[in-house]
Amino acid sequence: MDKILVANRGEIAIRVMRACRELGITSVAVYSNADEGALFTRYADEAYLIGPAPAAESYLNIRKIIQIAKDCGADAIHPGYGFLAQNPNFAYVCEQESIRFIGPSSKVLELMGNKMAARREMKKAGVPTVMGSDGHVDVSNAQEIISELGFPVIIKPSGGGGGIGMTVVNNEEELQEALASAKLIAANTFGLADVYVEKYLPDPRHIEFQILADSYGNVVHLGERECSIQRRYQKLIEETPSPALTSRLRHEMGEIAVKAARWVNYESAGTIEFLFSEGKFYFLEANTRIQVEHAITEVVTGIDIVKEQIQIARGCPLSIKQEDVCMNGWAIECRINAEDPLNNFTPSPGKLQHYRSPGGVGIRVDSGVHTRYTIPPNYDPMISKLIAWGRDRNEAICRMRRALYEYIIVGVKTNIMFHKAVMENPRFVNGELGTHFISTETTLVDDMRRITKREKSLEERLSQIFTHTRRAAAVAAVAALTQMRLQRDEREADS
Ligand code: ADP
Repeated sequence: MDKILVANRGEIAIRVMRACRELGITSVAVYSNADEGALFTRYADEAYLIGPAPAAESYLNIRKIIQIAKDCGADAIHPGYGFLAQNPNFAYVCEQESIRFIGPSSKVLELMGNKMAARREMKKAGVPTVMGSDGHVDVSNAQEIISELGFPVIIKPSGGGGGIGMTVVNNEEELQEALASAKLIAANTFGLADVYVEKYLPDPRHIEFQILADSYGNVVHLGERECSIQRRYQKLIEETPSPALTSRLRHEMGEIAVKAARWVNYESAGTIEFLFSEGKFYFLEANTRIQVEHAITEVVTGIDIVKEQIQIARGCPLSIKQEDVCMNGWAIECRINAEDPLNNFTPSPGKLQHYRSPGGVGIRVDSGVHTRYTIPPNYDPMISKLIAWGRDRNEAICRMRRALYEYIIVGVKTNIMFHKAVMENPRFVNGELGTHFISTETTLVDDMRRITKREKSLEERLSQIFTHTRRAAAVAAVAALTQMRLQRDEREADS
């Protein structure tokens, strides 16, 4: 494998290309009109335009991507995350064209991509799942299934993802309407109206395990990531290890994650997601790709997950055994997005008039932006992933706070103040996390306002100090000049 086409954009495209460079592999970028000149297109060894800005005509255009891969002689495609990363059809076309898809087989993608089928499969494997339906739910069987589970329940699209179409139902009266609307959303978004139900757990934690599996049957887990700080089922802050796990539980859950991967003959990097509630854990879904938050695992384990993923696709055995995996210290990731946290997190794309990312010991910033870069309105408004490492959780939090205060982004609104508020939140600091954290921490909005006010007054005080300093400097300069003139006059008078 000498040349990899990266069918993605932004920070993850650069992340993959970095791994390629270390491995001596040529990297190829494909980009839409909206990404002309973007950093990832310049980082790549080669770059080709795929089409107009809308993803359907560019990053989701399978035919065009395959054509470019063939034309430029790429022998593999890395799909990153999102876009085509979990699309079995894309993987299948790659397989047919003898282009290595860097991920699991199309068969595994198909199986795990249907969340209900994956749930059934995991039950067969002996992996604990949340109580719920074993098949599709519709008006004819909903009442019977739910009477066994008891309210509240959550309706989920089988072909779903991104939290889309998931609906919590609290009572009988809401059921029919919720079912109809979930099915409609599922059909429109995923082209599959099938939905299933699960018992809705009260404020669980989201804990997932990173796994690596090669084609020789070796499977290891790289420990867990806690991703409970979410908004609308979307992760905003992740950390590893989880403050909730003992080493016994980590071992137990890790073994189950490995068992789940083995059961489906998984090959590549992947994630087994669990909900964790009252000391028990339940399989949620498998993410059959590299995840946004993979970097925190890299920071604590020292293992380059993308490089391992590429090596697996090359047919190499894993470079590590389970006993080699050692988690050192603590890492936290804040997703820095161009969005306004004081206005319902509305996206705020636009031009970065000034951009300076934090640095120093224990800080990693994965990003695809720079000063004068314009964040296009067409895609996810992520600016960067800010990762802080510390020897323990407290050091990681303090370092994250310091890095957030160093971050300078001018030109678009960002969620940095939200992250600052969370890093100062006593419940967060105590590690008392849950997926309802944001909705139950009602002081966060006031905290963000307080932090903004505090920073403004600090800025004002600083600018006053500078004005004073400037005035004082001017006075001193005038005094020095006057003194010089006086001395000159005296000298001239003497001569
Ligand atoms: P998606 O694939 O759309 O991202 P997931 O099934 O992975 O959806 O769930 C995303 C999030 O939704 C979870 O992290 C959790 O916060 C919430 N969630 C999902 N299932 C349940 C459940 N049964 N009970 C409580 N919360 C749930």
